Amino acid sequence: MQIGVLDIQGSVEEHLAMLGKIGASAVAVKTKKDLDEVDGLIIPGGESTTIGKLMKKYRLDEEIKKRGDTLTIWGSCAGAILLAKKIRNRKPDALGLMDIEIARNAYGRQIDSFETKLSVPSLRKQKIPAIFIRAPRVKKASPKVKVLAEYRGEPVMLQQENLLATMFHPELTNDPTIHRYFLELVATYAKSKNGY
Ligand code: GLN
Repeated sequence: MQIGVLDIQGSVEEHLAMLGKIGASAVAVKTKKDLDEVDGLIIPGGESTTIGKLMKKYRLDEEIKKRGDTLTIWGSCAGAILLAKKIRNRKPDALGLMDIEIARNAYGRQIDSFETKLSVPSLRKQKIPAIFIRAPRVKKASPKVKVLAEYRGEPVMLQQENLLATMFHPELTNDPTIHRYFLELVATYAKSKNGY
């Protein structure tokens, strides 16, 4: 099982480092060829406008969409924006795969970035550290979408089958819980597709 981190802009190295720490086989994904080799793809945090534009320029958006539900995708922060079907006050972004509506930079400016601890009851008992940097907020989610964690009553970690979205940055902490969970998801969906 191979995991890819979309290598256009953002916290690529940090995700690769965390995946390395938990023993996952991981590569940076820059081209269609790289994408063909992976079962799971992380779209990191960064600047969604930049990542979205370049993704389109290299036609990676089309290639990702073509993979459908055989590719498990985790969008973190800017990555979550790229996954969302609707973006408030803006045209939908590159992928538009997940049934959520999102508002960018909705906690305020850089200075309003913050660190907190979140309870993710389906993953473990102790809370996990979460860093929010100019994070988006989920304004709507369809019933197809499961909420795995909330911050002050708003969803901040969501899953729709093979799609995972976090509004925060687990790769900037020392806690591999969410990366481990992503590996489980990738294994689950890769298995069901391979029919064993
Ligand atoms: N503010 C960024 C955007 O809208 C997202 C920030 C992040 O990924 N930490 O693209």
